[in-house]
Amino acid sequence: MSYERQMRHNLAMPQRRQIEQSLLRAFLRQGGVIQKFNDKHDLVNTLADEFSLNLSQRTACLQTVYRKENRVKNAVLWHRLLFRAADALANRGLVSKPGQTFKKTARREWMLTEKGLTAAMGLCDLPLEQKAVLSAITCEVQTAANQLINHPKPANYNPINHQKKRIQTARHALLRYRAFRHAVIEAYDCRCAACGLKLASPDGTSWEVQAAHVVPSSAFGRDDIWNSIALCRFHHWAFDVGWFTVLDNFGIQLSNRSTLLPSNHSLMGRYDCLRALGRSQSRIHLPAHANLYPDTLALLWHRQNVFANPRPDKRPLNS
Ligand SMILES: [Zn+2]
Repeated sequence: MSYERQMRHNLAMPQRRQIEQSLLRAFLRQGGVIQKFNDKHDLVNTLADEFSLNLSQRTACLQTVYRKENRVKNAVLWHRLLFRAADALANRGLVSKPGQTFKKTARREWMLTEKGLTAAMGLCDLPLEQKAVLSAITCEVQTAANQLINHPKPANYNPINHQKKRIQTARHALLRYRAFRHAVIEAYDCRCAACGLKLASPDGTSWEVQAAHVVPSSAFGRDDIWNSIALCRFHHWAFDVGWFTVLDNFGIQLSNRSTLLPSNHSLMGRYDCLRALGRSQSRIHLPAHANLYPDTLALLWHRQNVFANPRPDKRPLNS
């Protein structure tokens, strides 16, 4: 029996399969990525809590003796087991290794694959239809999002595609939609283009920002970076119903009807979520690269079809 195996046995450490399953569920909770397994990461303690590990199990060290260099290296056994479980998941195609992920994100982190996400959702009893609303990233979504961000804008770009295929395989359409959403949020640095709000969930895995179509899907608007703006939920709604629009110089124009609002409307505390947009003559918060700015034809369409003719909100009242 190897030294490591002997330690695992003596300390009654959890089985690798159990650790792998816990880790897959953790990937889903962590938004699809995990960076490292060490003391600085809360995750190792959270997973240790899941298995009710005692202090010895959490802190036991494996010693590797390097005789030639005359030194001893200590590695925490629990961290090593988590690393081995992640490595085993990678070998089964459920996550990508940090070196592979680095090519996509320039960050060394373990990342779920679509196969891994499906498996993780199964372990968490989540129906697969919920993939569309999950914020978890996967390698395939990241690859497709990179393509959307890095693709040069066509010279004769048209934000409306009347040929937009309604009949796509559900899987392809879902992956593309998730990539579109991720690319827009990444392009705008997770910030609302209207108010500048940048707010992550307490665990840092999802952002209070959405990818808003300029020309909506119902009018055959394309799912791409040039027909979209990242907006917080409130400003997404306000943009969709025509409370404000964006000019060709990316200035914000507020509807004149806002002057008719009672003074106590659109307030969040003392902050006026709507009228604040019109006061400063401000521009929207734009992406870092001009190639990712919203297209002027798309903005013109919004001014003519939504802003000039405000629509009722078509969403059901209870959504
Ligand atoms: Zn906002």
